[in-house]
Amino acid sequence: MKKRVLVIGSGGAGLVAAIAARRRGADVQVVSKASRGLGTCTAHAGGIFTLACGGLSPEEHYRKTLETGHHQNDERLVKVLSEDAEKTLRELVRWGVTIEFERGGASVLSTAPSMVMGGAGFTAELIDIAEGSGVEFVDWTSVTEITVKSGRVVGAKVQDWRTGEEGFLRAGSVILATGGGGQIFSNTDNPGRITGDGYALALGAGAALRDMEFVQFYPLGWAEPGFPRWIVDLSLVDFVRVTDCRGLEFLKKTLYEWGYRNGAEGGLFARDRSARLVAERDREGGVYAHLEDLEENSFDDPAVRYCLGLDASRFKDFARPLRVAPLEHYFCGGVVIDSRGRTAVDGLFACGEVTGGVDGASRVGGNALSSVAVFGLRTGEAAAEEAGGYNGTGSGPVPGFLHEVSQSVGQSPLALRKELQRETWKALGPIRRTSEMESYLGFLSDLKVRKIRIDTPVDRLLALEMRGLFETAKAVAEAALKRKESLGNHWRSD
Ligand SMILES: Cc1cc2nc3c(=O)[nH]c(=O)nc-3n(C[C@H](O)[C@H](O)[C@H](O)COP(=O)(O)OP(=O)(O)OC[C@H]3O[C@@H](n4cnc5c(N)ncnc54)[C@H](O)[C@@H]3O)c2cc1C
Repeated sequence: MKKRVLVIGSGGAGLVAAIAARRRGADVQVVSKASRGLGTCTAHAGGIFTLACGGLSPEEHYRKTLETGHHQNDERLVKVLSEDAEKTLRELVRWGVTIEFERGGASVLSTAPSMVMGGAGFTAELIDIAEGSGVEFVDWTSVTEITVKSGRVVGAKVQDWRTGEEGFLRAGSVILATGGGGQIFSNTDNPGRITGDGYALALGAGAALRDMEFVQFYPLGWAEPGFPRWIVDLSLVDFVRVTDCRGLEFLKKTLYEWGYRNGAEGGLFARDRSARLVAERDREGGVYAHLEDLEENSFDDPAVRYCLGLDASRFKDFARPLRVAPLEHYFCGGVVIDSRGRTAVDGLFACGEVTGGVDGASRVGGNALSSVAVFGLRTGEAAAEEAGGYNGTGSGPVPGFLHEVSQSVGQSPLALRKELQRETWKALGPIRRTSEMESYLGFLSDLKVRKIRIDTPVDRLLALEMRGLFETAKAVAEAALKRKESLGNHWRSD
């Protein structure tokens, strides 16, 4: 019988896994909520992969990853990451992905359409390769359940949110590659579709989560009214003054005291404590990036452009102190996997940001994309090998119609999401307190029973996403309350 693998998510992890499974002879379908590759964190990424090559040995990469993760990591996964990353990226080059290996350095940069969104070049090339190898894509479709029968995954329920049409996709193996859950927070650089659905789907299927309290906040992001939510590279401190409301250059000074040679290095290994420091100063009256320090021609410098994170030419009109603050960037925790992406549920696999274990309590910058590649490849291969036969001929969604799409009562799902995001930021942001987290759990119980009004197809999508947001928020709050001490990305002021 033919093997069929269903991949949920078309970011880097899903695409690498899909191609790897296809190369192992499986029929592969990739389902995603938007058009393939779009609305993914991978496409938004800077495109930096940290790995042992050039100057960094696998042992050093392993050591740095455990140290940065405060030894909360799954050491077996870290070993695989540090030993396999270069080999895996060279395999991706053989597939046709364009990757520049920096000589004598620890990172590679995928050739990209822009300096800011390096990841978009990565996903675009992977999509071409996947399409060319016969991977089938099901776009604009949400997975609403992973179906398990007699202890084994048999496929997933899906819904085309534009029409409300429901279906079932059969598969011998299902791979969760749904990314993180950044949208539970009001201040995040994650795109709108990153709503933690994978955590809810995994829990529903019987898989376990770990380390959910360790949400990575990037130390600097634009907090100026009217500016988009976007990260500012920590190397900013190497170009301009970043000060608190008293004018003190606290961040650069502290990074040096911690032993880092510059902001860029701190951005790789000290995101957790830098974010906490910036959050504290932000509460005391604000943190400011002094763009007035830049010469006119600095805006053409690629390093400055990368660091500002937005079209640098726009900043020429903003040569003044601009407000910056931490924002949510990445989920270190997630689904428990083994080194081939297997979960506790037979036939259910996971790879990419939806998983936990590689990062422990805090992530090394650039390790996310390396994990996406390394575990995407291993997971895709394992899922194909272990898919067995699938029972049926289903080559696409089975038609059927959902319940009434328009309800006249209830709250708009967008308003509900915004309320959740504001409350989550207050309770589970970079600085946490027991009392706030406890009352937040009460807020979540109230939220769960609210009615949602659906007037448009987009409302339907947002309503479907409420489940992922809710389950993810609950998992983070419960894990955060359970961990009494401050560690890595989890900082309790009490
Ligand atoms: C601004 C920014 C810059 C970054 N820069 C870097 C960097 O330079 N280096 C680095 O290592 N890391 C970086 N990261 C982190 C890294 O990009 C992500 O961790 C990684 O790309 C996640 O990949 P993924 O494939 O796991 O998930 P994603 O790329 O986020 O893809 C998730 C996919 O799942 C789909 N999906 C989710 N739920 C469902 C559902 N219910 N049904 C169907 N489909 C679903 C989505 O539609 C999407 O296709 C950055 C992150 C951001 C936000």
